[in-house]
Amino acid sequence: MPEQRTFGRRRSLPAKTTSAPKESPKAEPGPASESSGWGAMDKLAGQAGGDLYLKVSEDPTVIKIIDADPFDNYVAHWVEEIREGSKSVRCWGTSECPLCGIGDKPKKFAACFNVISFEDPEVPELRVWEAGVKIARQLRDIALDERRGPLDRADLYFTIARTQKAKATEYHLERIRARDLAEETGIEPLDEDEITQFVAERRTEPVKELLDSAEMGDLVKTLLDD
Ligand SMILES: [Zn+2]
Repeated sequence: MPEQRTFGRRRSLPAKTTSAPKESPKAEPGPASESSGWGAMDKLAGQAGGDLYLKVSEDPTVIKIIDADPFDNYVAHWVEEIREGSKSVRCWGTSECPLCGIGDKPKKFAACFNVISFEDPEVPELRVWEAGVKIARQLRDIALDERRGPLDRADLYFTIARTQKAKATEYHLERIRARDLAEETGIEPLDEDEITQFVAERRTEPVKELLDSAEMGDLVKTLLDD
């Protein structure tokens, strides 16, 4: 799902019609892809916008992690000049990154996991959780500890909550065994079939896509054209 952005200043920049090669590859009208059909419509519509990501609030949310390790890790630049759409732009992660090239440092790290969220205890839903550095390290320590891991152990659940202190947001992760889940949270653990169904739907592709050279070029140009 590409992120839509419009850039603040300099909207008079030549549009893609002039800067992009004329023959942009067209989508092949080939066999039904994972994004065609009504089934995909329902699935993707349900993931549109904010529903894709796990929302962590001050009330602890019960989650079940269904990946043994992050399916994606990235760092992102923060570009305040982007007016609409995500101001967070995935760093290319190499010395070629155009934003790094103009001296902008990536500010955010995310380790991405598929989780089943019990935000609505009646309707558990698949979400992408972008964990920051501290939580990602806690998760790694649990994952690699043979007594506590792996993360996707059938009997393992977590609660995640955040607190806001002055300018800093802190996250609190707690590990809960399935046998204690109902007593501690009021939520019944999923059975094996339910978990299997979520696992079949989990994401494996990066959710935060890279901007290509042309898009990065436009962005860098708006930043330098002050
Ligand atoms: Zn970069």
